[in-house]
Amino acid sequence: MILAPTIDNIRTCALVLRAGGVVGMPTETVYGIAASIQSDVGLQRIFEVKGRPSDNPLIVHVASIEQACSLVAVDYHGVLSAIASVYWPGPLACVLPSADTVSPRITAGLRTVAVRMPQHGIARALIQELGCPVAAPSANRSGRPSPTTAQHVVNDLGPDIDILDGGPCTIGLESTVVQLGVNTCTILRPGAISGKQISQTLGHPVDVATSHDDLRASPGTRYRHYAPTCPVILCDTEDHLLRLVSTYHDPIMVLSEYPLPTLPRTVICSPLAESTLYAELRRADELQLAAILVLCDAAVQRREALMNRLSKAAGSGSHWVAL
Ligand code: AMP
Ligand code: MG
Repeated sequence: MILAPTIDNIRTCALVLRAGGVVGMPTETVYGIAASIQSDVGLQRIFEVKGRPSDNPLIVHVASIEQACSLVAVDYHGVLSAIASVYWPGPLACVLPSADTVSPRITAGLRTVAVRMPQHGIARALIQELGCPVAAPSANRSGRPSPTTAQHVVNDLGPDIDILDGGPCTIGLESTVVQLGVNTCTILRPGAISGKQISQTLGHPVDVATSHDDLRASPGTRYRHYAPTCPVILCDTEDHLLRLVSTYHDPIMVLSEYPLPTLPRTVICSPLAESTLYAELRRADELQLAAILVLCDAAVQRREALMNRLSKAAGSGSHWVAL
């Protein structure tokens, strides 16, 4: 059920979490499905309701840097505090060697834990009311686009789950995920905070995970993700896109940063933006459209997080059209 984010409802949701339940919560990136890190039953429920593979670890959401440090091996408190004091609360998840106390249900058996302090006031109010961190992956069925409204969560996970309604997510793509060592940093997933920004903060270069080994460090990057049912096709010029549009007779969607006035009436043209991408992918499915064509010109191709999600939605290998 969708709940207004009143103090009473936040208290009720904290009770649900304490009793081993799960709750949908808004964050500035996407909606999460939260369980108390102290409830094994709740953590297990996350995997069940999402249909998530059990080898994919969960990001823990905290309300303070101290809470995050309590989950991380002592030797890494310094590096975590240094970066967290710049970017938290905000869309940056940090992967570090975990403290021994962290449940293997959260880490999926890895020796690391991912921690983040969300910017959204309702998420932090819920964590504060509960009195301990929550594990909260995105609140979609596994493989579907992440939810950016409370209604998306209902559509994916059903009406029985309580969801605090925080309105549409302002960022709309998942957090940047970085793996931190004492003097090293690897971007495991691009997001709103760029590698360049992090490199400037740390005062040393950052790596980007591309190799098989690095991707194994973050199992979630391995699965087909962010994918609607209808095919997503990326076009690198307006000319390519228009030629492809003319080959469809059934209704399709076009996502473009700027209006394309010459499109036929069977085409739904929507703005291409990070904050609305997932809502548009979901709308195309609801309308049972034949395809989503995306105009990814040179300027769009420089938007790392957006391109990462679009490539995954398109499926690897065949997502660029060559006409
Ligand atoms: P989600 O919260 O569903 O958007 O996904 C969380 C992402 O963080 C996934 O890609 C996970 O594989 C990744 N992640 C979570 N915990 C860890 C960890 N301990 N080490 C590496 N990656 C992690
Ligand atoms: Mg996810």
